[in-house]
Amino acid sequence: MIKILDKHVADKIAAGEVIDRPVSIIKELLENSLDAGADHITIEIRKGGKDYIRITDNGCGIAAGEAELAFARHATSKITSAEDLDSIETLGFRGEALASICAVARVELITKTISSKTGRHLILEGSKLLENTATGCPDGTTVTVRDLFYNVPARKKFLASDSAETRRIVDMVSRIALSYGDVKFNLINGSSKVFSTRGNGNILNNIISIYGSDTGRELLPVESSRGGFLLKGFISPPAVSAPSRSRQIFCVNGRVISSDVLEKALDAAYREKLFHGRFPLAFLFLAMPPDKLDVNVHPTKKEVRFDDPFEVSDFVADAVRAALSIKGSLPQIRHEHIKPLQHTGRGQKEAQAGKKLQDMRETQTVQEVKAMQEMQEVQYAFASAKELQRDVAVAEEVDVKNILSSMRQEQITQDARQMQNLLEPEKPETAPFDFGALRFKGTIFNTYIMAADEDSFYLIDQHAAHERVFYERLLAQYNNAEKVRQPLLMPLQFNVAAQVTATEEAWHAQVCSMGYEIEFFGNNTYLVREIPAFMELEEAETFLADFFRSLEDKPDLTNQKTLERIITRSCKSAVKGGDALSDSEIDALIKDLGSCVNPFSCPHGRPTFIRMRKYEIEKLFKRV
Ligand code: ADP
Ligand code: MG
Repeated sequence: MIKILDKHVADKIAAGEVIDRPVSIIKELLENSLDAGADHITIEIRKGGKDYIRITDNGCGIAAGEAELAFARHATSKITSAEDLDSIETLGFRGEALASICAVARVELITKTISSKTGRHLILEGSKLLENTATGCPDGTTVTVRDLFYNVPARKKFLASDSAETRRIVDMVSRIALSYGDVKFNLINGSSKVFSTRGNGNILNNIISIYGSDTGRELLPVESSRGGFLLKGFISPPAVSAPSRSRQIFCVNGRVISSDVLEKALDAAYREKLFHGRFPLAFLFLAMPPDKLDVNVHPTKKEVRFDDPFEVSDFVADAVRAALSIKGSLPQIRHEHIKPLQHTGRGQKEAQAGKKLQDMRETQTVQEVKAMQEMQEVQYAFASAKELQRDVAVAEEVDVKNILSSMRQEQITQDARQMQNLLEPEKPETAPFDFGALRFKGTIFNTYIMAADEDSFYLIDQHAAHERVFYERLLAQYNNAEKVRQPLLMPLQFNVAAQVTATEEAWHAQVCSMGYEIEFFGNNTYLVREIPAFMELEEAETFLADFFRSLEDKPDLTNQKTLERIITRSCKSAVKGGDALSDSEIDALIKDLGSCVNPFSCPHGRPTFIRMRKYEIEKLFKRV
């Protein structure tokens, strides 16, 4: 029997499409606050947002007569006609969020516009309006969402643990807070402050507020423009990477999006600079002509479609490469990394233990020290309880009025993290690296070349450098039409798997074009009479051995790209670090390195350079 569904049932089903977990509620409410022009937004959650979510903003508010309507399905103030769809400037426009949220939770709304004297207080449960009364409250809107899915137990079961839901929320709010640098965000979990941003539009300041100063101060600035595109932001130097993409944030024309195109562009720029399975950090803001992209691909607008993805990815990859070519991108030794030597004749550990003890005796009792450490830890982790009260009221009992008025109050005290934000972050370096300015100072451990320029001291890994130089030469040779070969006195002999001979047609010409001469000798055997001129015998041999082994995995050689990938990989495995070098060889090596496309890492992603700034050395010697 076909029946029209009861309205409440239909609402619950529809709600599932917009609201699947606490994070999606928060995203919708945040977007509403931003659309309302708020520049101060406080987000509070408990138990991963399952029990409690409260978002307070200082935006335009909702007029008394329209407050109830805001919860009706397809009720929106943001568009009126179909034509408006083509020129949407707000984050929301479907008029579905509030309707969906109130279908599956207990919702409370307190709101007031500037022009009205009193505000409205609404309570809704499962789409039913329970209260709509006048109330005194400040301008702006507060939405509280309690007991998510209290009336849809089946959905509740699909929620993850509190901590997993919290992580999703923190991640999402972080992204939004970063992309709206002019808006002050406070995120509070239970009774602890997760972060607060200053809303002063400084990207680096916001990164530091959200991810901490350890991350922030390592970052390299990106700034580039070309043909109507402008890219700004920060990326990590190759020495700083993450095991996932969680710290890659892309913002296109003001929207936080996920994008394969931008991820791939980043990967291309970092190719051979990172170990396999590591990802750069990136906070990138792209501004581009709006007619060159389509933002409506995905219902929650997380994805965009670029009209010309190649134009975008080329531009972004070039900009990131340029940012990575500066001095600041080299791995750095900082003074905090080095423990100053203590008294001679004593183990360092002992010396430190001794020092600690001494410090304690000079100052406080052990208990006092412990208490102090505990205090410090508390300070570092969260704002003090006092400040929290002043900053934003946490307890549910504290009413919205207090929150809103305290939001306007400038904060008097700051917790440790915010203190750090106030100290202006180190000015990022933008000078390009100049190989010509490097002066060679000797070698240590037969491996590391010491060099210096005006403001820095460098250690160069001779083996890694040699690998890089050799690898790029080999690739150049491979791509070059004119091959220089060297004949061998004794031919090399390779006994290979049947798979190799069976596919000979697909690979033979290509490998010979590198400078090899390879001849089938029958019986699954090849003789190699000539090798590329710039390869050492051992390298040439390792290359072929690795290459033939790769063919045994039955790759699809009809695809030219696959063959090239195998050759490149075998090149990498063939490269060997050099032996001890003479002074003139070192000069030559550094010069060769300077003309490499990717001089700062070996083909496997290890760094070739380590840098220590003069400033850091002076710091260690306590001169600054
Ligand atoms: P949409 O955002 O797609 O318009 P919503 O269901 O999210 O739909 O919101 C419905 C309407 O309620 C909005 O169009 C807006 O007019 C109003 N509204 C919701 N949240 C706020 C807020 N925080 N401040 C001011 N108005 C709001
Ligand atoms: Mg909305």
